[in-house]
Amino acid sequence: MSVIYKKVALIGLGLIAGSIAHAIRRAGLAETISGYARSSETRDIAREIKLCDQVCDTAAQAVKDADLVILAVPVGAMAAVAKEIGPHLKAGATLSDVGSVKASVIKSVSPFVPETVHFIPAHPIAGSERSGPHSGFETLFDNRWCILVPVENTDETALANLRSFWEKLGSNVEVMDAQHHDLVLAVTSHAPHLIAYTMVGVADDLRRVTDKEVINFSAAGFRDFTRIAASDPTMWRDVFLNNKEATLEILGRFTEELFDLQRAIRRGDGDFLHDYFTRTRAIRRGIIEAGQDTDAPDFGRGLTKES
Ligand code: NAP
Repeated sequence: MSVIYKKVALIGLGLIAGSIAHAIRRAGLAETISGYARSSETRDIAREIKLCDQVCDTAAQAVKDADLVILAVPVGAMAAVAKEIGPHLKAGATLSDVGSVKASVIKSVSPFVPETVHFIPAHPIAGSERSGPHSGFETLFDNRWCILVPVENTDETALANLRSFWEKLGSNVEVMDAQHHDLVLAVTSHAPHLIAYTMVGVADDLRRVTDKEVINFSAAGFRDFTRIAASDPTMWRDVFLNNKEATLEILGRFTEELFDLQRAIRRGDGDFLHDYFTRTRAIRRGIIEAGQDTDAPDFGRGLTKES
C-alpha cells in the first residue's frame, strides 16, 4: 500500500474511470474510491461489479471529503459537472480530469473551481474503442503516457502528488501546456480518427454497390480503420467540437499531402511514392522502439490504442 490520496472520487464511470479504479486498487493508492455516473443504469452496474467502494446517487455526495476528484465524462459535459460539484469540493483537494482536449476543458471548468482547490488537468494517452463501466481494466495505463497540463500558479506539491499518482497507475508522465497538447493530439489522435471515420463511411457507401464484399474481404488496413471508427460517438463528437482549430489545421495539411500523393499516382511517379512510404515506415519503427506498440500481427493493436 502506498496511499497518495485517502479518498479518490471518480465522476463518470466508464472505460477511463473504471481503469483508474482497478489500477488504484492494484497499487493501493487510496483508502476509499467513490464514484458517480449520470444514469442509474450505470450506477447499478458499478455497484454490482464493485467498481468503487461507494457509488453515490449525486456527484456532490461522491466528491464529499475527497482528496482527489477526477472528471471522467465526455469533454462537452465537464463544465456542467464542475458547476455541480464546485461548492462541495474539500479545501485543499485536487481536481483533475482525463479529457482528450485540454484548452477548452480548462476554459470551461476553471470558473467553477474554488480558490482553495488545486485544478490540475490531465490526459492519459491510453484507451480503447470500448466504453461503459464493464470496459475498464487495470493495465490500461501501463507504459502509456499521461500528460499533465498545469494551469498558472499550480501548487508544486499538488502537482508532484498527481504525477506520482499517475506513475503508480503505470504511466509515464509528461507536463505540457494546453495549446501544445491540443496540437500534438490533433496530429496523433484526433485527425487520424476523423480519417478513419471517413474511410469507413466511404466503404459503407460503396458496400451498397459491392454488396458484402467490403465486409467479407476486409483487409488489415480497413479492419484497423473500423476499429477506430467504432469509438464512442459522444466522446468523439465532443473532441472535434472542442479541438476545432488544431484539428482543422492538421486536416488542411493532410489534404495537401493527399493531393501530392494523388498527383504522384496520376503521373506514375514511383520515386515519390517510394520515398514517401520509406519515410512513414521509419515513424512506425520509432513507435515500436519507444515501446508504444508491438510488431505483432494485426498491427499489434490488441485492446489498447492512443486516444
Ligand atoms: P465512457 O466509457 O463512455 O464513460 C463516460 C462516463 O461519463 C459514463 O459513466 C457516463 O455516464 C458519463 N457521462 C456521459 N455524459 C455525461 C453527462 N452529460 N453528464 C454526466 N456524466 C456523463 O467514456 P471514457 O472512454 O471513459 O471517456 C471519458 C473521458 O476520457 C472523455 O473525456 C474522453 O475524452 C477521455 N478519454 C477517453 C479515452 C478513450 O480512448 N476512450 C482515452 C483518453 C481519454 P452514463 O454511463 O450514465 O451515461
